[in-house]
Amino acid sequence: MSATGRFAPSPSGDLHIGNLRTALLAWLFARSSGRGFLVRIEDLDRVKEGAAERQLDDLRELGLNWDGQPARQTDRRALYDAAIDGLVTQGRTFECFCTRREILEAPSAPHRPPGAYPGTCHDLTPAERESRRVERNPAIRLRSDVETWTVRDLLHGEVTAGVDDLVLRRGDGVPAYNLAVVVDDGEQGVDQVVRGDDLLTSAPRQAYLAELLGIETPLYAHVPLALNTEGQRLAKRDGAVTYRELTERGIDVFATISGSLGLTGSTPEQLLDTFDPAALPHAPWTFAPPA
Ligand code: GLU
Repeated sequence: MSATGRFAPSPSGDLHIGNLRTALLAWLFARSSGRGFLVRIEDLDRVKEGAAERQLDDLRELGLNWDGQPARQTDRRALYDAAIDGLVTQGRTFECFCTRREILEAPSAPHRPPGAYPGTCHDLTPAERESRRVERNPAIRLRSDVETWTVRDLLHGEVTAGVDDLVLRRGDGVPAYNLAVVVDDGEQGVDQVVRGDDLLTSAPRQAYLAELLGIETPLYAHVPLALNTEGQRLAKRDGAVTYRELTERGIDVFATISGSLGLTGSTPEQLLDTFDPAALPHAPWTFAPPA
């Protein structure tokens, strides 16, 4: 498959109606442009027992289909390790011994965004690294040689964001999300990334990493998230928000989502007739769970 879109949920719990809306949009973007569509289970972290299967069931209930079996990131560790090892061999990485707390507490610098890596371990000597390795296993960080990177997004236009020395492999040996997502999209032929706009500011650093790995930058479309009636990001604690909860209360989830997008039809295929990426609402969607 040469051109494909994808939906890549983390199986940390049930999908809520906002996640399902993003999945439907990813499907519509892919299928309306003649692309394949993949589902990838991002289970390197934050896994809840049985959640992946429930997520797939809910996507099927919504009428979505995908090509082949969903890939699971935990089955693909060798790919991530090979990409990291390649960057290590090229001298593009360094070992980092900082804890999250040390990074947060590092003195701020004028050009460094809050939470960005302060560069503490960037220039450790071999002897310093040797002695630190006794205390803890290092994370592997990218030796980034740019401060910012720019991507084009179908909804947001040009987006520039900071690129720091991002983690490629955590101290516990688990490949980092940013690395895995870039390797997977490249390896799976994903050339169109449609996902929630909470990841918009991650796109530039992922595109930079793709460039270093010789992977073509995908087309991006970061779609608005669903909000609760207080204007916060919709979450499970907001009440009945999952496919099952809503269906039990007599709510037609598919009709609710397609209506929120201004589309008509009772299956995803039928929505393709009226789907126009240029006409998509850019504002977040407010969802009021039923009482
Ligand atoms: N697994 C990520 C999430 O559920 C999405 C990653 C992506 O779409 O790039 O938030």
